[in-house]
Amino acid sequence: MENVVIIGSGCAGWTAALYTARANLNPVVLTGAQPGGLLTTTSIVENFPGFPEGVDGTELMMRMQKQAEKFGTRTQYGALVTQVDLSQRPFKLWVDEDVFEAKTVIIAAGASHKHLGLKSEELLEKKGVTYCATCDGALPMFRNQPLVVVGGGDSACEEASYLTRFASKVYLIHRRDELRASRIMADRVLSNPKVQPVWDSVVEEIYDVSQDTVTGVKVKNLKTGQSSDIACAGVFIAIGHVPNTQIFQGQIEIAEDGYIVCRNGTATSVTGVFACGDCVDRTYRQAVTAAGTGCAAAIDAERFLAHHGS
Ligand code: NAP
Repeated sequence: MENVVIIGSGCAGWTAALYTARANLNPVVLTGAQPGGLLTTTSIVENFPGFPEGVDGTELMMRMQKQAEKFGTRTQYGALVTQVDLSQRPFKLWVDEDVFEAKTVIIAAGASHKHLGLKSEELLEKKGVTYCATCDGALPMFRNQPLVVVGGGDSACEEASYLTRFASKVYLIHRRDELRASRIMADRVLSNPKVQPVWDSVVEEIYDVSQDTVTGVKVKNLKTGQSSDIACAGVFIAIGHVPNTQIFQGQIEIAEDGYIVCRNGTATSVTGVFACGDCVDRTYRQAVTAAGTGCAAAIDAERFLAHHGS
């Protein structure tokens, strides 16, 4: 029987682990299929306090893991929870054939990349369509080629800036004529001579399914209604995220858009189950806010156990 099982290993999960470990609760972290979470797919993180020179996303997550383990956190590397029963205590969590029983659960399951929803996008994924410039940008197939980035937020700007290292040109396709990204990121990308913004436009189709590789995109200008083609060797999609909450549907209260509903801090609708990070937060979605709510979830779990006998 575990005191605390933490689902997820991003900023929220490791911070919850650090705090519950230091409270002698001997937590176990089930890392999920992507240990370290989404931050491992970004390059340099410039806005995590304490790192004036910036820090590599993967390195930051490895440091958090090391710090949590130093105080006794146990890590189940790659463990993906496929089913949960939160209807009674102890709670039950399934990882393949293994069942974990827990007095409290902290859900820090994070979020995944949102898709455009095109059939051609699905068929050409990993054949030129990707959701991670830092993972795939340096591949030979993208070198010295024109590339497309879709989106107008910080992620899209970061991806576009990063890809200018390899690409001959980067088209930044955004559905409005103003970027959502923070000023510093927007200014950086728009001042890069290799980046060409394509405003008020959406990708209607990715070519070429018949060749089994990306050769271009069909783009529609939403103001004029006209469509045109852009030749490219890769399409990097950065249009936001969807919370990883599917396995909790029907077990705890989840809003229509998929985010877990918390009240009084990190408490979910099930007593003894807490949630934090990107699977709860549709507003701020920053590494530092995820870490902050991970800390809060740990304190809430600790208080719950103190109250109910740990
Ligand atoms: P985001 O801020 O939600 O931006 C998503 C972008 O994609 C928006 O520009 C949106 O357009 C567009 N979009 C959404 N759905 C679309 C669709 N179906 N078709 C075409 N375009 C679509 O997501 P994000 O950029 O991933 O950022 C998420 C959070 O992480 C933010 O809080 C951001 O600040 C943070 N972040 C920070 C950094 C950093 O500081 N280094 C880096 C990456 C991310 P509209 O603008 O028209 O809605």
